[in-house]
Amino acid sequence: MSKFVYFFGAGKAEGNGEMKDILGGKGAGLAEMTRIGLPVPGGFTITTEACDYFLKRDRRYPPELAAQVSANLKRLERVTGKKLGDARDPLLVSVRSGSARSMPGMMETILNLGLNEKSVEALARNTKNERFAYDAYRRFVQMYSTVVIGLPKEELEDKLRSLKSRLGIKLDTEVPADGWRGLVTEYKAHFRKATGKDFPEDPNEQLWGAIGAVFTSWMAEKAVTYRRVEKITGLLGTAVNVMQMVFGNTGDASGTGVCFTRDPSSGEKEFYGDFLLNAQGEDVVAGIRTPMPLKEMAKRMPRVYKQLERVRGILERHYRDMQDMEFTVEEGTLYMLQTRVGKRAPTASFKIAVDMANEKLISKNEALLRIKSEDIERLFYPVIDASFPRAELDKRKIAQGINAVPGAASGAAIFTAEEAEAWAARGEKVILVRRETSPEDVGGMFVAQGILTATGGKTSHAAVVARGWGKCCIVGCEKLDIDYDRKQMTANGRLIKQGQWITIEGGDGLVFEGKIPLVDPTLPPAYFTLMKWADQIRRLRVRTNADTPQDSRKAREMGAEGIGLCRTEHMFFKDFEHPERSHERQLAIQEMILADNHEARGKALAKLLPFQRRDFTGIFKAMDGCPVTIRLLDPPLHEFVPHERAKQEELAKKIGIDVETVARRVEQLREANPMLGHRGCRLSITYPEILEMQVRAIIEAAVECQKQKVKVLPEIMHPLTLDRRELRILEQGTRRVADEIIKRAGIKLDYLVGTMIELPRAALLADQIAEVAEFFSFGTNDLTQTVMGLSRDDAGRFLPDYVDEKKAGIFSADPFQSLDVAGVGMLMKWAIEKGRSTRSKLKIGICGEHGGDSESVKFCHRVGMDYVSASPYRVPIARLAAAHAVLEEKEEKRRGAPRRMG
Ligand code: PEP
Ligand code: MG
Repeated sequence: MSKFVYFFGAGKAEGNGEMKDILGGKGAGLAEMTRIGLPVPGGFTITTEACDYFLKRDRRYPPELAAQVSANLKRLERVTGKKLGDARDPLLVSVRSGSARSMPGMMETILNLGLNEKSVEALARNTKNERFAYDAYRRFVQMYSTVVIGLPKEELEDKLRSLKSRLGIKLDTEVPADGWRGLVTEYKAHFRKATGKDFPEDPNEQLWGAIGAVFTSWMAEKAVTYRRVEKITGLLGTAVNVMQMVFGNTGDASGTGVCFTRDPSSGEKEFYGDFLLNAQGEDVVAGIRTPMPLKEMAKRMPRVYKQLERVRGILERHYRDMQDMEFTVEEGTLYMLQTRVGKRAPTASFKIAVDMANEKLISKNEALLRIKSEDIERLFYPVIDASFPRAELDKRKIAQGINAVPGAASGAAIFTAEEAEAWAARGEKVILVRRETSPEDVGGMFVAQGILTATGGKTSHAAVVARGWGKCCIVGCEKLDIDYDRKQMTANGRLIKQGQWITIEGGDGLVFEGKIPLVDPTLPPAYFTLMKWADQIRRLRVRTNADTPQDSRKAREMGAEGIGLCRTEHMFFKDFEHPERSHERQLAIQEMILADNHEARGKALAKLLPFQRRDFTGIFKAMDGCPVTIRLLDPPLHEFVPHERAKQEELAKKIGIDVETVARRVEQLREANPMLGHRGCRLSITYPEILEMQVRAIIEAAVECQKQKVKVLPEIMHPLTLDRRELRILEQGTRRVADEIIKRAGIKLDYLVGTMIELPRAALLADQIAEVAEFFSFGTNDLTQTVMGLSRDDAGRFLPDYVDEKKAGIFSADPFQSLDVAGVGMLMKWAIEKGRSTRSKLKIGICGEHGGDSESVKFCHRVGMDYVSASPYRVPIARLAAAHAVLEEKEEKRRGAPRRMG
């Protein structure tokens, strides 16, 4: 027979702190506190397995549950010496939810259960406090009616309000016993009218009603949304905790509070919390009365405070982590009602982990494991000022999209990249709002505070570029209706005209009207300590994806040990050192594309050469001796030329050719499926002169640096390769140009020639490709796209359905964000093995967006890659994940169960 109920009380518990999965966090905490001798009221926990059964079988309970609940209730009655619903000495219980992962406020609670017309009299008699007894009763009737039956809260609260106004009082605490008694009668009449039934007197009926309501609340909209947002998956449901009620509202020797063993905002080792005299727990949480700081409790109840401080020490030592605790004091006796690992601000996460390691409460390795990638992510971005009123924020919300890059930004909504640049040049802050972005927009994106697009997913152009800059970005905001002609957008019926301010919050993908105050984060010293510890144990190297000297410097600051991907195409649009001269290089690349013969193309390329050379020199210097992987031109050429007539005319005039030639050439470049078209190294096969110019720029820059005593390690990378012979042609072309320059310079310069692996064919034939390539870099954005047959730019429209647990729930995460280990990962593993079978020292890395995703980085460690490459702001995340990978591997070895590679 399955066990669905676990008892705790009178110093004994059937469960323990390890059983969170089936007892939920609260149940496991109560069991553990009971075991270690802390004062916990008696009770029992109904497991999450029972909830799972209930939800899967059309709200029926497991057959053995009734008997188990009844036996545990009897045991509780024995331990407490009281009986549920008794007319002489009634037991009252609370019925609370509790899931394995904390979901604060998302599910239901019923207090004071067991009260009825008879037991309330007994409670009044026994406590000699009629007012207290009827206050408890009205709270119960109110909670039961709303939570279990689903009557609207407002209707009951109206009755309370009108009672107080009849009595001419403001506070609940001023309502006399008779007032509460009358209110109970009113509530019950309301109940009868609304449901056609009497309010249940039978405590058993009350109990089962409450159990069902708590289970059902697991699937309430807010709970489901919370799990989605917090990426909580794989749980069975909520447990139900039935526990003897203790009362913090019996007078001034009683009270209730919430406290943390350390300050959850700063991480300081200070006992921190709120306390209310003569109150029930819900009063603290609901904010009906303003609580006093915990320090105040030390003055009002010195003995109990001392006891609570002792409990604080015991719990923190026992759990070896910061705890968030709820307690109640009933007539001078302390009861612990909950303990759980406390949620904390990102800064506090680092401070607490490092302090606890220094205090020897945990090891350095444990401290590392305490930090999650989100803690790092959240540390770096500006944030909406927490003091900004919540209600006002809700009022200003106009839409929600996909949260591509967290942080917040405010600025004037601008709908074209050009105008964004013009506004920014005037010193205005802008948010670039586009249906989607393309490389042409890179200038406008660069100057914008944040980027908002109506389409696209997390690896769309906008998201990738914004992430590289650590710039707040929301994509796939489908509710936006952008009208470029009228320079305006509408979202959920609200109109925003160009220039009007908006604020975007990339953590949740929210768009607000107007300017909302933002605050800058500061990096705490503990962050640097912890990252040093991570670097000491990781095996994987961490590089960065960077295209400019500025990004390279930023990435070095973030701890990058080289560049794993320098996308050269961005350089054709933006002069990052001299932005005012960007048009020169734009014109040169457009001229090159429009050229209809070798000679004209050569002339245009000659103009581009010095720009690229200067960019590479800057990058080599910024990376000062670290390896730099430079990828040759990758995007389809149509992305570089204008598609609107007016712009084509403008371009034709600048180059001195007629507009029809421009239009014809643009038309020739049109492809039905450009991502599978004439792009990547295929461009260099067709136009070897592009390759020649780019290799020349790279090697000449390297020679120049070397002459200036700057060490350089260039790695020239060909994108989208699919064949050994194809790569051989490119490699020979590369070496011919490079070797000649080096020879002429009369110096020794080492460089590597390698390839991206971003097509299934390249992965399958990796042993052949490794005959030519000196290194592989997995381009997992394209590899995911081509292995899964999912468009990286469009899949955002339906992929959320594949991840949503309420819909299909096919993937546990977006495969463009977290590597599809089962499919794409298998192919990568194959490619690594094949590649190294040909060339045992083959250097292997990853430069797709997955290089900055923790779970994917851990996979890269397991399959034996040499490095991962992430956008600058994700470098610390990759460093930490690489350390976690080592620790997890150690743990698996210790347990003797090596994990499957993929
Ligand atoms: C990739 O495809 O993973 C990659 C890094 O290249 P890009 O994103 O520039 O196509
Ligand atoms: Mg690619």
